[in-house]
Amino acid sequence: MSAPLLMIPGPVELSPNVLAASAEPPRGHTAPDFIALFGRALSDMRAVWKAGPDHQPFLLAGSGTLAMEMAVQNVLEPGQRAVVVDTGYFSRRMAEILARRGVAARSVGGRPGEVPSLDEVSQALAQGPVHALFLTHVDTSTGVLADVQALARLARQHHPEILVVVDGVCSVGGEALEQQGWGLDVVLTASQKALSAPPGLALAVASPRALAARERLSQPPMLAIDWKEWLPIHQAYEAGRPSYFATPATGLVRALQASLQEIVEEGVDAAIARHRRAATAMRAAFAHLGLQGVPAQSELAAHTLSALWIPDGLDRTFPARVAARGVLVAGGLHPDIARPYLRVGHLGQITGNAGALGETVRAVGLALADAGQTVDVEGAAARLQEALKTA
Ligand SMILES: *Cc1c(COP(=O)(O)O)cnc(C)c1O
Repeated sequence: MSAPLLMIPGPVELSPNVLAASAEPPRGHTAPDFIALFGRALSDMRAVWKAGPDHQPFLLAGSGTLAMEMAVQNVLEPGQRAVVVDTGYFSRRMAEILARRGVAARSVGGRPGEVPSLDEVSQALAQGPVHALFLTHVDTSTGVLADVQALARLARQHHPEILVVVDGVCSVGGEALEQQGWGLDVVLTASQKALSAPPGLALAVASPRALAARERLSQPPMLAIDWKEWLPIHQAYEAGRPSYFATPATGLVRALQASLQEIVEEGVDAAIARHRRAATAMRAAFAHLGLQGVPAQSELAAHTLSALWIPDGLDRTFPARVAARGVLVAGGLHPDIARPYLRVGHLGQITGNAGALGETVRAVGLALADAGQTVDVEGAAARLQEALKTA
C-alpha cells in the first residue's frame, strides 16, 4: 500500500525538487558546495522572514521545540519577566520553557479557540517591567491566528525596549509576516511545516536588539544552542568560508535550501497568497460537508490549517477513517478541549496542488459517509475547485 497523502500540520509532503535534494548523499560540512548552499539558505531565510540585513538567521539541527528553547535561553535569564499570550498548546509549552529558565512568566488568555483581546494583553503588560512578550502566530492546536503586528505594537507602547518573540512554527512561509516592519525580535520555526522541508531543523531569525540581549546575559544558554557560538559560524558560511562549531545536519540543510529557493523564486508574497487561496477554498469545501471550525470566529482562522469539530455521534477515531480513505489528518491536541476535533494541514508546497487538496476533501467527505453521515462529497470537491479559481 502506498503511503497516505500527508495532510497533518507538519511534517508535510515535499515538492519533487526538495525530495530529490533530500535523497542526495550527505555533504561534508566544510565542503565548498555545502558552505555555499548553507550561506544561501541563511540569506533566503532573511527574505522569507522579511528581515533586515542586520538581522541574524540561525539554522540548527533540531525540532521547533529546540528553536523555542534557543530563543528563550538566548534573550532571557533567571529572574526576568515575560508575558505569554496563551492561544493554545504551544503557548503553554513556551510558558514551561520560560519557567525552566527561571523567568517569571505571566500567561494571558488561555480560552481555547480564542485570542485574548488587546485590552487583556495590555493589562498584563502594564503590571511592572516586562522584558519579553511571547506570541504564537498560528496556534496549531486550535487553528487560530494571532494579530502579531498589533500585539507587537501594543507591547512597544508599554515598554519601548521589550523583546517580542514569535513562535512562527506553523506560520513562517504560510502567513503574512514582516519581521523588520513589525519590529519582531525573534521569529522561530521548524523545517517541516510551511517551509516544506523534512523535519529536523530548528530555525530562528534574531533582530539586533535580540542579539544585544544575548550579549548582556550573565547566565549564558546551554552551549549547543548559544548564539554566541553559532554567530561566527553562520557569518563565515554566509561569507563562503569553512568553519566549525558543531556538525550541521548537512542533508537537511540541502533540502531546506531547495525549498527556500522555491519560495523565493515564486515570491514570498505569492507563496502567502497561495496559502490564503487554499485555506479559503478548503474552508468552503468543509462548510459544504457541514463541518464547523474550532476558532471562535471565522476571522481568527489560520491559513495554514483547519481545526474542525467532528460531528456529533462520531468520535476521535474519525481521523483513522480519513486515513483509510488515503489521507493522513490529525486529531485534537489542546488539553482543555474535550469534544473531538480534527486538524487538516494546508501548508507548504502542497497548497499549490489542486489535485491533492481535492483528494483531501474527498477523503474527509467519504469518511463522513462511511460513518453514516449524509454528505455531498462531489459537491464539496466542486466547491473547492471553484473557490481555488476565484479566491
Ligand atoms: C509544531 C509546532 C511546534 C513544535 O515543533 P516541533 O518541531 O514538533 O518541536 C511549536 N510551535 C508550533 C506553533 C507548532 O506548530
